[in-house]
Amino acid sequence: MPELPEVETVCRGLALRLEGRRLARVQQRRKDLRFPLPRGFVGRLEGRRVVKIDRRAKYILIHLDSDEILLCHLGMSGRMLIGIGPVLEPEPHDHIILETDDGGHVRFNDARRFGMMDLVSEASFARHKLIKGLGPEPLDEAFTGAVLAARIEGKATSIKAAILDQRVVAGIGNIYASEALFRAGLSPKRKAGTVQGGRADKLVDAIKAVLSEAIAAGGSSLRDYVQTDGELGYFQHRWAVYERETKACPGCDCDFTATGGIRRLTQGGRSTFYCPRRQR
Ligand SMILES: [Zn+2]
Repeated sequence: MPELPEVETVCRGLALRLEGRRLARVQQRRKDLRFPLPRGFVGRLEGRRVVKIDRRAKYILIHLDSDEILLCHLGMSGRMLIGIGPVLEPEPHDHIILETDDGGHVRFNDARRFGMMDLVSEASFARHKLIKGLGPEPLDEAFTGAVLAARIEGKATSIKAAILDQRVVAGIGNIYASEALFRAGLSPKRKAGTVQGGRADKLVDAIKAVLSEAIAAGGSSLRDYVQTDGELGYFQHRWAVYERETKACPGCDCDFTATGGIRRLTQGGRSTFYCPRRQR
């Protein structure tokens, strides 16, 4: 599943292809994705110029000169593929194809169809049902240790569950939750309400650092796409703990055969990876 850094990389790649371009032709190859596509979808897109592209949580926002936003979510398996020239033979799961006035195109391909697209006016965006309940952006300057501490004060759930809660902070997924807790030295099992003061500062710093590093890795991968056709947003990245069960902990210089190395536990049906020696 694409996480926030992948979505940010997709946004930057789409911006290179779409910003300033007019949508010359739009192909809608089915009525629905996760939700039905909005009424008049093609007509509201064709002829519009893309003003800018940005992101809220894991939503891609394609701002149009009609004062509407094409709101997209990649879901579990959604992919944005960019290329040159008309799409003569769409692939089986190419659901939406945007062709631009400079002869480029973007295909939205989604085999499992947990992805979504909607059209929403700039004025009503903040009230959209998928947007209105979202917590602060993790990379926003306004997201500080004090803000996180206030949002989780008194919570008895685990800190891992708390930072996955999109109402607490938006856009953090399973991988970066594990990585941030490792970096901050906090046990994923710790009661969320105890993460206050300096601990909350440390966790916020760690969240910003793991996301920023991954976005930087994604940004450098984009150079390859500008020249050639391809899928946006996937890049090599090395995790400290994620999917490294029984491997040596990168933060402990002890003999990991004695400690068992990185451990995995299941929380809320999802795997968490951590070092029991370093994370308290
Ligand atoms: Zn360790």
